[in-house]
Amino acid sequence: MSLEEVKPRLARAALLLDFDGTLSPIVVRPEEARPVAGAEEVLAGLVERAGSVTIVTGRRSGFIRSVLPVDGLDVIGQFGMEGFPPMPPEVLAEVNAAGAEEPGVRVVNKGASIAVHVRTAPDPDAATARISGPLVAIAERYGLDVLPGKRVLELARSGSSKGTVAAEVVARTRAEAALYAGDDLGDVLAFDALEVLAADGVAICRIAVVGEETPEELIAKADLTVAGPEELVALLREL
Ligand SMILES: [Mg+2]
Repeated sequence: MSLEEVKPRLARAALLLDFDGTLSPIVVRPEEARPVAGAEEVLAGLVERAGSVTIVTGRRSGFIRSVLPVDGLDVIGQFGMEGFPPMPPEVLAEVNAAGAEEPGVRVVNKGASIAVHVRTAPDPDAATARISGPLVAIAERYGLDVLPGKRVLELARSGSSKGTVAAEVVARTRAEAALYAGDDLGDVLAFDALEVLAADGVAICRIAVVGEETPEELIAKADLTVAGPEELVALLREL
């Protein structure tokens, strides 16, 4: 599938966009992430012309709305789990204990999920390798999933993912076309969800926004690739 199949159906298309690494450059401190120049204006234009425009993110939606204040823009935060009941305190306690074993790792209680950030560890890859086992074990005990991200592991209820969010938006808006842009492992599930929708006749376009840490798996499944958020914004401007 390609962009050319989505373009003529734009008025009935669901545009689904990740935020970090997709509309904003990756930063060491997540709270300092901001959309690249032009993103706000391009999205404001697309909100008028496309069927729907949705930011699909692991972050809380309030942060996205504060840095990307666009009327009519939908934001689905925390992999669709925003507003879900909080994680049980015993899960948080166990994750905190596992995190305390790894210098530089930050555990963030997001309510419906718990994020373990490894970006600030001295060796993020080594820290990820060491902490994955304990986190998966905790997840299995409590019937949770570990969602992989860019230098972050997130414990969440089973079944919540960018894939379920993408499928839900397309179904709810009865979209005839769906475009998804992302840069990370969590976006692979959204790409897979679009593949399923394509089998049902939805025109799809999957865009990998390639950065230093973009997984090969995402690039391999993409219909097209762009070299970073600026290039994605330029592409969206042409829709
Ligand atoms: Mg991302």
